[in-house]
Amino acid sequence: MERQKQPTLPTRCAECRQVMDSPVACSACGTLAQLPAETFDSFELFGLPPNYDIDLKALHGKYLSMSRVIHPDIAGANPDQRMQALTLSAELNRAYETLRDPVARAEYMLAMAGGPRASEMKDVPPDLLGEIMVLREEFEEARESGDAERMRAIRAEIESRRRETLDRIGDLARQLECWHVDIRRRLREQLNTIKYWNSLLEQTRSA
Ligand SMILES: [Zn+2]
Repeated sequence: MERQKQPTLPTRCAECRQVMDSPVACSACGTLAQLPAETFDSFELFGLPPNYDIDLKALHGKYLSMSRVIHPDIAGANPDQRMQALTLSAELNRAYETLRDPVARAEYMLAMAGGPRASEMKDVPPDLLGEIMVLREEFEEARESGDAERMRAIRAEIESRRRETLDRIGDLARQLECWHVDIRRRLREQLNTIKYWNSLLEQTRSA
């Protein structure tokens, strides 16, 4: 998944010569690329630079227009074209789900940069597990005594800790351009951390 940096010129459609939004489909004339979608990373599929900061509205707009072009039912009766459209649309959905979620996007960028993957590095900041345990216990106590206000306050605290972690993930993912191993390991640590906050939040929401 290591990426080679190359300046990419806007691609023109081989059929209609319009500048293409995406290298896999021309939204002007409906021509689908002959290359397999796996040739492109998720950013390239949407004609985007590989940056953490994404215009989500623009991404959604591109997703909708490309989905219409690629839709298997509109792609003609030719079985090969239908197969190609099916593959492309699965790739497009997968890429869209990855890019629109900030955590999934950072995970993806980290993988592009060479990891480490969650299975390779399970580290979290030293204080995290203790803090999680304290908050969980406090929440349990509040729940047992029926203190709804305290429960809300603890939930808000957990949400704000999750938000801080997400901010750190963003800060680190924006520095990924240098792909330094230290940045990658710190990002891995924060991506591991946010899973704990997510799971604690889920526990307090279902209470
Ligand atoms: Zn075209």
